[in-house]
Amino acid sequence: MIYTPPPRDPNAPPVRINLLSDTQTRPTAAMRDAMARAEVGDEQIGDDPTVNLLCERVAGLLGKQAAVFMPSGTMCNVAATLVHCRPGDEILAHETAHIISREGGAHAALGGFQIMPLKGDDGQFTPDTFRAALHPRTRYQPPQTVVSVEQTANIGGGTIWSKAALDEIVAIAKANGMATHMDGARLLNATVATGIPAAEMAAGWDSAWIDFSKGLGAPIGGVLAGSADFIDEVWRWKQRLGGAMRQAGIAAAACIHALDHHVDRLAEDHANARALARGLAQIDGIAVQEPETNLVFFKPDGAGVPGNKMVGELRKHGVLLAMMDGRIRACTHLDVTSAMIEETIGHVREIVRAA
Ligand SMILES: *Cc1c(COP(=O)(O)O)cnc(C)c1O
Repeated sequence: MIYTPPPRDPNAPPVRINLLSDTQTRPTAAMRDAMARAEVGDEQIGDDPTVNLLCERVAGLLGKQAAVFMPSGTMCNVAATLVHCRPGDEILAHETAHIISREGGAHAALGGFQIMPLKGDDGQFTPDTFRAALHPRTRYQPPQTVVSVEQTANIGGGTIWSKAALDEIVAIAKANGMATHMDGARLLNATVATGIPAAEMAAGWDSAWIDFSKGLGAPIGGVLAGSADFIDEVWRWKQRLGGAMRQAGIAAAACIHALDHHVDRLAEDHANARALARGLAQIDGIAVQEPETNLVFFKPDGAGVPGNKMVGELRKHGVLLAMMDGRIRACTHLDVTSAMIEETIGHVREIVRAA
């Protein structure tokens, strides 16, 4: 499961504090206003000026020649591997990668690719682990065509790959004739947290994308960037997958609004995540992974409350979060305030005391 939220209970109070995911953000009034005023055209034939502007801006932001607007981050990943690989090829990624566990097997179903899961702490494999997984080109083994990283690593705890590790992985990939793909669903969280510009972070990566429907707060969309030739090929897959749109400027306007107003403020989400982790860590028996960005993973079992029970009890207080791969994940975002974080910590403390 992507995540296991508490069972739906008709008697539960409304959700007041939504820590389930940064996908839960609602478009702000200003964002809706920008959407309503958007100049639009037929995106499919390249005539939507707002989509075109968004693509230019993201290409510039990521330091690439070109970019394309997609309905989702998943389609960015899928279209990218469909361009990079041929049937029977192997993609190397961390074993917790979204492309392995959360895209419905798309890379196998649509492309005929296999993904080699690499091990490593916190959602990241080391350059040495990557090097050790490479084999010479023989007719026995699958061609190893692409290496993929998630910046930030979602299930890894929203962790940030260091620029040095990214550069080393690129160098190894290039020396072995491989393409490099960056799943940057939360790349801007990493750039805000480190101060390293997105173009630097993505330098050397043949394809990179950012999601607008996560912490950036837009309702729809991801933008995939790369060389002009790569993006031409991606367009063919966008068409084939049914991702070519019409007056998509309405959605792109929300993304442009997010670039202008919702990037720097990601720092607030990171501060809220740190405050949540600090508060939880002060409760005896709760094991918390130190957050690097906006995702906080913790286990309350040591305090005598299993994760499922904690999630269910918090829901009774109007706090929504979920189990994810055996731990609880709390996600801070645009619609989460520091007062909500304090309230959540208070509820957790009470639930532990009552147990
Ligand atoms: C959310 C996410 C995706 C997929 O994005 P959607 O817009 O939900 O399709 C891909 N990779 C990572 C790391 C994600 O967190």
